[in-house]
Amino acid sequence: MNTKYSLWFLVGSQTLYGEETLRQVDAQSQGVVQGLNSTNAIALPVEYKGTVKSTEEIEQKIRAANNDPTCVGVIFWMHTFSPAKMWIRGLKLLQKPMLHLHTQFKPEIPWSEIDMDFMNLNQSAHGDREFGHITAKLGIPRKVVVGHWSDSDVQRKIDAWTRACLAWNDLNHTRVVRFGDNMNRVAVTDGDKVSAEETFGFRVEYCPVGELAAEVAKVSESQIDELVKIYESEYDFDEYCASGSGRVQVREAARIEIALRLILERWNAQAFTTNFDDLYGLNQLPGLAAQRLMKEGYGFGAEGDWKTAAMVRAMKTAAAGLPGGTSFLEDYVYHFKGQGAALQAHMLEVCPSIAKARPRMEVHPLGIGGKADPARLVFTGAEGPGVAVTIVDLGSRFRMIVNEVECVEPEADLPRLPVARAFWAPKPDLKTSAAAWILCGGTHHTSFSSALTREHLEDLAEIAQIEAIFIDSKTTISDLKRELRINEVYYGR
Ligand code: MN
Repeated sequence: MNTKYSLWFLVGSQTLYGEETLRQVDAQSQGVVQGLNSTNAIALPVEYKGTVKSTEEIEQKIRAANNDPTCVGVIFWMHTFSPAKMWIRGLKLLQKPMLHLHTQFKPEIPWSEIDMDFMNLNQSAHGDREFGHITAKLGIPRKVVVGHWSDSDVQRKIDAWTRACLAWNDLNHTRVVRFGDNMNRVAVTDGDKVSAEETFGFRVEYCPVGELAAEVAKVSESQIDELVKIYESEYDFDEYCASGSGRVQVREAARIEIALRLILERWNAQAFTTNFDDLYGLNQLPGLAAQRLMKEGYGFGAEGDWKTAAMVRAMKTAAAGLPGGTSFLEDYVYHFKGQGAALQAHMLEVCPSIAKARPRMEVHPLGIGGKADPARLVFTGAEGPGVAVTIVDLGSRFRMIVNEVECVEPEADLPRLPVARAFWAPKPDLKTSAAAWILCGGTHHTSFSSALTREHLEDLAEIAQIEAIFIDSKTTISDLKRELRINEVYYGR
């Protein structure tokens, strides 16, 4: 469990019920919080912050939540009735993500014992509706989770939101460093960096490639020896890489990795982009470095794609501790057979966190960029469900697009393909998925995760208050077009 951050748990009530009832509310609320913490189902500790009964108390708690950098979200529950006029002042100040937990202390009605005291104590069924009214009226983005707090599905939903809160907090502190500009007149990988910082909080900075080249020149042979030893312990080396000129290129890749890591640390960066047309002073495209740094948690986008770099980082943050991996990927080649599938790869930069088996170190010519042959890790992605995500800049707003996909085993070996790859069948089928994606204006680059589900992204989009379109097993093109048209009215052009 991540203990650097926490969730606050705030319970609403009022003074009407008298001391004894409020004591019970307090004790039971502590019980709920202990219950949530005891299962380890939620990625962060939940901190009970008391039962609030007045406008002043609510304002004070919400101001405190806003000011606590370790609080990444607030869970609200109205154990009893809590007249919502007293929430207005505080809720108007709330700057942290909200989850409204609509639960009650006991899961069932105690038929033979229930009396008016019990009814007075257990009023969330209408107390939470009162709270829901004012949050709807104030237009506060939130997730509403309904069910008994011990229910594993309820805890799973809270966990998904918690991970979105972690991603949101991280996005707001992320610095994306670009080595080189967006490449080659590509439109979709670019956008308004100022609006992006307003919307998501992340900063996009520029580091001259010359600064990286200068660090590369300072790397010592013994530093390289050390890193290559790590490579040998983590990957299988093909024959060409084991000695001779292949070996030289692996060492050059290590040299770049050492310098790149140093610069990212110097810049306090959590994500970066590269540009294979702008490698001045570098021996090769930093593909292996991008692969390994992604595995460590850095966000990455190729060809200057700073939005995808930020999303890869955010999704890695959300996925921390979950089984599965998260990577930058690109739609490459279609397989128009059956429901259809698409081969995902990139020139080099695919994160080994999605690998099915131990990656193999290989060196091959790149064909473009005019540099020496780069080292890379070659592997095939593991099978299973995942989400492919992108964010595009439509000028007036950012749109998140999420496609549910099923990673499958390629039908045969790909002995001549010298890059890491994944193979997926997008939902509902390739024809609908690709048409929908294109109608949404989606990129060829995605941030893919087999650790996350659409729920994490839905919660993140809600917190960020951005448009989000989901392409899943229920998508039809007519429905999607209607949704896009309605969204044009809602968001404006
Ligand atoms: Mn690309």
